[in-house]
Parts: sequence; C-alpha cells; structure tokens
Amino acid sequence: MDYLPIFIQLRGSPAVVVGGGSVALRKVDLLLKAGARVTVIAPKLHEELRALAARSQLDYVALEFHPHHLDGTSLVIAATDSRDVNAAVSAAAQSRRLPVNVVDDPELSTFIFPAIVDRSPVIVAVGSSGHSPVLARRVRQQIEALLPARLGALARFVGDRRKDVQKTLTPEQRRPFWERIIGGIVGTRVLAGDESDASTKFADELAASNVGASPETAADGTTTDASHSRLGEVYLIGAGPGDPDLLTLRAVQLLQQADVILYDRLVSDAVLERARRDAQRVFVGKETGGDHHATQARIHELLVQYAKRGLRVARLKGGDPFIFGRGGEEIEALNAHGIPYVVVPGITAALGAAAAASIPLTHRRLAQSVTFAAGHALDDETLDWRSLALPHHTVVFYMGVAQMPRIVDRLTGSGASPDHPAALIERGSLADQRVIRGTLGTIVELARKYEVQPPALLIVGEVASLAKGDNDVLAAVLEAPEVAAPESV
Ligand code: SAH
Repeated sequence: MDYLPIFIQLRGSPAVVVGGGSVALRKVDLLLKAGARVTVIAPKLHEELRALAARSQLDYVALEFHPHHLDGTSLVIAATDSRDVNAAVSAAAQSRRLPVNVVDDPELSTFIFPAIVDRSPVIVAVGSSGHSPVLARRVRQQIEALLPARLGALARFVGDRRKDVQKTLTPEQRRPFWERIIGGIVGTRVLAGDESDASTKFADELAASNVGASPETAADGTTTDASHSRLGEVYLIGAGPGDPDLLTLRAVQLLQQADVILYDRLVSDAVLERARRDAQRVFVGKETGGDHHATQARIHELLVQYAKRGLRVARLKGGDPFIFGRGGEEIEALNAHGIPYVVVPGITAALGAAAAASIPLTHRRLAQSVTFAAGHALDDETLDWRSLALPHHTVVFYMGVAQMPRIVDRLTGSGASPDHPAALIERGSLADQRVIRGTLGTIVELARKYEVQPPALLIVGEVASLAKGDNDVLAAVLEAPEVAAPESV
C-alpha cells in the first residue's frame, strides 16, 4: 500500500490554496464543503473565486506565492499552471512538515485526493495511488451506481439511535442488531423514503432484541440466522427484458442483499448473475401447458413462508412486475399475511423490444396512442378490436405467438388493412434477438418460415414499418445451401 487512506477533520482549520484558476476552484469547493478556513494565494482570480472572496467565504491574498504564506496553516494545495511555482510550494510545505497536494503531480505531493462518492455522512473514497485518476473515477462511477441515493439518510437514522441502543443492548448484542437493522426491513424502509414506518419497525426490533429473544428462538418456532431480521420482507423486482444492463439501480441493490431469489422462466441467467452469490435461488417458472393456477398459488405460499422466517425474499419477474406479471395477485397474498414489500419497476418487454428494434411506439405522424394487450386470451371479449385496428394506433401483443393467426384475423376483420405494418421481436434485448418485419398479410407466414418461438412480441401499427428487421439476414441463412453451391470452385 503506497498511501494510507484517512479522513481528515478540517472544520475550522486553516488551509492554503496557491493558484486562482478553475483547478484551484474545484479544490477550494471541496475544502469549503469540509468546513476549512481557506486562503487563496494568486495574483489573479477566477471569477467564481472572486465571488466567494466577496462573500467572505475565503481570504484572498493577491500576490505571487511566498513561503511565509504557509505560516500557521494546516494543509496546502498547489494548483498553479507553473511547475516551478508548484515545486516551490511543495518544498516550502514539506520543510514545514505540512501535508501538501500538487494537483495532478503525485511526485510533488505528500497526499493525493481520491475520487469520492458523497452520500454524506457516508463518503466513499477511491484512489489509484496516483497511477490513474481516470481509472479511479471510473471505479467511483461504478460504486456510485451501487449505492442507494438515500444512503446518507440511513446513516443519520442509525446515528440518531446509537445512544439508545447502547443503553439497551449489551455490546455482544449490538453488532448483530445493527446488521439486522441496516440489512433488513428497517434499512429498506429508510432507503425507500419511509422513515416513519422505519421508526416503528426499529422500535419493534429493539424491543424484541431487548427481551433477549434471540432470533434463533423466534416465537413461531422457525429458525433464522442472527444476522437478519425476524421481520422478513419481499422485493417484487422487475428484471427487464433480459439484458442485465437494463436492470434498474434499485433492482441491483436489492438483488445484492436478498437471501432468497424466486425467479421465472423469463429471467435471464445474465440477470441472475447480478444477484448475491450466496443467495438461495428458487425456480418458480410456469411451464407452458402446466397448471398455472397451482403454480401461482405455490409462489404465494413460498413468498409468505420465506418472509415469515425473516428472510429477505426477492421475487424476480421478467419485464415489469405489474405488466402481465401477476404482481397484483402476489401483493394481495402478501397483504393478507401482513408481509411488507417493495415494488421495483422494470423495463417491460414492449419498451425493451421496441428500443432494440428501433420502433418508436408513438410517433407524431404515425401513432398517437399505444396499447399493451395480452394475445393469449382471445376468447373473452375484453379487447376492443375496432380501436386496436385503427391506423394511427400501435398495439403490442404479449404472449401472442401461438395465437398469431387469430390475432391477425380479428384485426383485419375489424377494419385493418392487410398492408398494415407488423413486426415480431423474438427474445428482444438478448444477444440472439431477431426482428421480423412484415405486414398483417405476411407476418403469420414469416413467423412460420423463421420458426419464431416465445418469448416474442407482435407489434402492429404504422410505426412497425420503421423496424430494423433481420429479414434479409434470415432469408440469406435459409437459402444458404443454394448460395453456397460450389460454382466458382
Ligand atoms: N411482465 C413481463 C411480461 C410477462 S408476459 C413484462 O413486463 O415484460 C410474457 C410475455 O412477455 C412473453 O410471452 C412475450 O410476449 C413477452 N416477452 C418477455 N420478454 C421478452 C423479450 N425479451 N422479447 C420479446 N418478448 C418478451
């Protein structure tokens, strides 16, 4: 380790910045955020620095640097564009044993600035020991994406209650208690912005821990591990159309802390890869032709059972949980048992597939409205086929592959022209996605020819004519044996 990472308390301490340009400004901003009393030494000053000086937020010395400017200070930054001046500042600071940073010059520095994620009071600092600030910033960005926006609020929530917990619990009890609070339902509630519910649940947890009922001996006889809460919870997470980069930040955060993951057939392996390594994975997919009703009832049962054991259960569903995902039924089951849950929206297949195929679902000239329809339940008369068949309307049919001939018949029978554009997107957003462009008159035949399999979406409407179709490539593949005839050999 070339550098020791430490956090320095600078509130009220003097600090000197030599240089008056935009680089100096960035450092001054940081020092002011940390509460330092800043003096800037420079013959000329950036206008924002001048404004700060005018508001007395910093002291300004309008002179060339002289070593005596460092007398009595506690920290020095050199940010001029002259290496000679920077070297003089560094030498003067080091002879006074003052910590000095020369911007972008580790050789002249005794300390360097890390890239930071500021969720105050939580601060993450990333450094590359001066080797590559750009790399450190990229690492910072990746961490930034993993940390919930309300992390600082959670730290304050905990900080406000530390004294109470110290009074109530023994030192051995405290650590597992805080693990349960931060990694369990109280933490989830604070991160979701519901501090009042979090406070109530915190009080419940504290009272329960206080009577010495260790989690291993929970009242209903179930066993749990002491590091998580007895109050289980469910995260109903939309996994998007398959590409893991289309998960939301919150989905990834919760997948990283879930103890058990119940997932569907539509959830890709690449998405599951983003979950905590040691989480228990339970496949609860409905097989086509299986008893859907029984499978769904079983899912409800599992969600309730796991949560009652105090586990954090991620229910990972393809696309969005509330678009043809039976998420509504699952929350009814959870409500019936008083189990708390959060719902994390996902990118529904229609949005993912449309983006992947370059089909704008609405378009000023071509479509003023869009319908997401279930294509598999055509017997009931719940769909208004005449409005779906209107020329300036887009319809996205989910679960429609098997029923496609009937869908096309209903649309043409309700006034749609056989020339009306249609596109099929198979495995949208995944590496092996296929987009087939046609019309109501041709799409059934094309689907047969190219053997389209679920999961696939049928998009009908003028906008489908904009699809970036793979028809030519597919046709070439089908005809390959003839094309490859060894004529020229
Ligand atoms: N809740 C999911 C939909 C579940 S219904 C969502 O919001 O996306 C299942 C149907 O979704 C499939 O039959 C198929 O029509 C569609 N689907 C899901 N993933 C898909 C994908 N990657 N590409 C194309 N269609 C998809």
